[in-house]
Amino acid sequence: MHTILVIEDERDLAGLVAFNLEKEGYRCVIACDGIQGLEMARQHNPDLILLDLMLPGMLGTELCKLLKKAENTSQIPVIMLTAKGEEIDKVVGFEVGADDYVVKPFSTRELVLRVKAVLRRFAVETESETIINIGTVTIDTSRHVVAVKGEEIAFTSTEFKLLHTLVKRWGRVQSRDVLLRDVWGYNYVGDTRTVDTHITRLRTKMGEAGDMIKTVRGFGYKLEER
Ligand code: CA
Repeated sequence: MHTILVIEDERDLAGLVAFNLEKEGYRCVIACDGIQGLEMARQHNPDLILLDLMLPGMLGTELCKLLKKAENTSQIPVIMLTAKGEEIDKVVGFEVGADDYVVKPFSTRELVLRVKAVLRRFAVETESETIINIGTVTIDTSRHVVAVKGEEIAFTSTEFKLLHTLVKRWGRVQSRDVLLRDVWGYNYVGDTRTVDTHITRLRTKMGEAGDMIKTVRGFGYKLEER
């Protein structure tokens, strides 16, 4: 059973969210401020954190940064609960590092769907599952084979590793530097244009499915289902 930590100072809302998540089979723990939230994240090691942005004591953005920095909590996905117009780009960007966000007021159904999607995304990343399907693309990580609509595509090992890295982190923007580090290795002395060149090749080889690789201008790339 997945445990979800809800960090939200509006007790009614926290209770409502927990009630609806528990109906879906999740276990919920609630923290009412940032300090308590940080403690509970360390203590309960939840599978996901729902984090309100406006919290007394410590802002959700500050708390998120702390969680993402600490070794024992950095791997926990965080969905930020924000109000409209709160700097969403910053929230899911590098600076704060939330994995997703939901804008208040939200329907509990919308929230549950988002929780499921993020948990699925993280399962793909950590699971030993060897066949990954995203849209029309199938990746067999044990055989290092990529197929689009069932048709196998010949990839070099670097191309495969690049696609696999994007797939593991689908929906999340990866900077060129991070890709260079994780695909080519820390010691690779190269230009981030190497990444661009390989992305172009991936897109070409994948045909129509190449559209799944999105460019985030001036930053990097991400993979999206459509
Ligand atoms: Ca609040």
